Amino acid sequence: MAQTKDYYAVIGVPASATQDEIKKQYRKLAAKHHPDKNPNDPKAAERFKEISEAYQVLGDAEKRKQYDQMRQLGAFGGPFNGGGQRRGGPPPGAGAQNIRFEDFDIGGLGGLGDIFSSMFGGGQARGNARPRGPERGPDVESQLQIPFRTAATGGKVPIELEVNEECATCHGTGAAPGAKLQTCPECQGRGTISFGQGGFAVQRPCPMCLGKGTVPSEACPTCGGSGEVRSRKKMMITVPAGVDSGTKIRLKGQGARGMRNGPPGDLLITFQVEPDRFFKREGLDLIAPVPINIAQATLGSRISVTTLDGKKVAIKIPPGTPNGKRFRVRNQGIHKDDRMGDLIVQVDVRVPDKLTDEQEKAMKEFAEASGLKY
Ligand SMILES: [Zn+2]
Ligand SMILES: [Zn+2]
Repeated sequence: MAQTKDYYAVIGVPASATQDEIKKQYRKLAAKHHPDKNPNDPKAAERFKEISEAYQVLGDAEKRKQYDQMRQLGAFGGPFNGGGQRRGGPPPGAGAQNIRFEDFDIGGLGGLGDIFSSMFGGGQARGNARPRGPERGPDVESQLQIPFRTAATGGKVPIELEVNEECATCHGTGAAPGAKLQTCPECQGRGTISFGQGGFAVQRPCPMCLGKGTVPSEACPTCGGSGEVRSRKKMMITVPAGVDSGTKIRLKGQGARGMRNGPPGDLLITFQVEPDRFFKREGLDLIAPVPINIAQATLGSRISVTTLDGKKVAIKIPPGTPNGKRFRVRNQGIHKDDRMGDLIVQVDVRVPDKLTDEQEKAMKEFAEASGLKY
């Protein structure tokens, strides 16, 4: 959620403060936070800028009046904020911070609109505020955990999502069966409500009809008039071979439904690959740690390793193989597009943790014969 920047809070005065009180408090703060006075504090410059920006508006009686009106609008909550709820009471957290001022028709404000649009970090909000007309549904983002082997070879994985779907009872109209559509009493069918003051007008979609201009004589009992119901949607996701943690895919048209017959948004899935019991991954190479004993490492051996697709491959361990030595099996790694990784077998030489008397004697003889100190 965007961060609220309340000019009154920035200056530190109540909204009821007089112009004089604002001016006094601003001078005090400006003197304290002036960058010249705080040469070693990078935050001071930022704070100073913030204070100046707030005072530019609050210090000017006319601009302040307009700002107060905007602030009032922000208290409504309702359909023009970015939240999922589109009718009824204000959703939790609704308030000034959700408003996107560039969506309002602000004329003749002399750049004040820009200040307002940056004020609450407006880019966060979605375009719900535009009155009427079809509107594309928002994108839905989801994380999906997938098994290591599915990520490596590709496959299908089920996913379940909470989505808003068109209400089956009213087919999205929000009207009870048999109810008639009436001209919205709030906006008289215009779909927008305007607040006029001086030389400019601020328009916002009508909160009662959500910009449609009509309201049903009786609300749909299933969805309470929103036209939407929350439901769980199951679908199969095709995982392309070779995806890694953080890989994203976009499924066109599988996001949230649009408003007023607008197209649906997209579904964005970020894969999280679970670790495997046996393999690790380095790019397209698969690393397989394989335990061998000291006799195999010292005298040499042949070991058998299972590849990702279940084949057995034989690896020749030459005499004198050190711990951690890697053996590469070509083209048995991860296949992605037209590239193929390798399988890398990494030996893990296991040293016995307990010796019988006989073994200990033999080991000591070996050490003495080799001139090894212990
Ligand atoms: Zn309904
Ligand atoms: Zn209306």
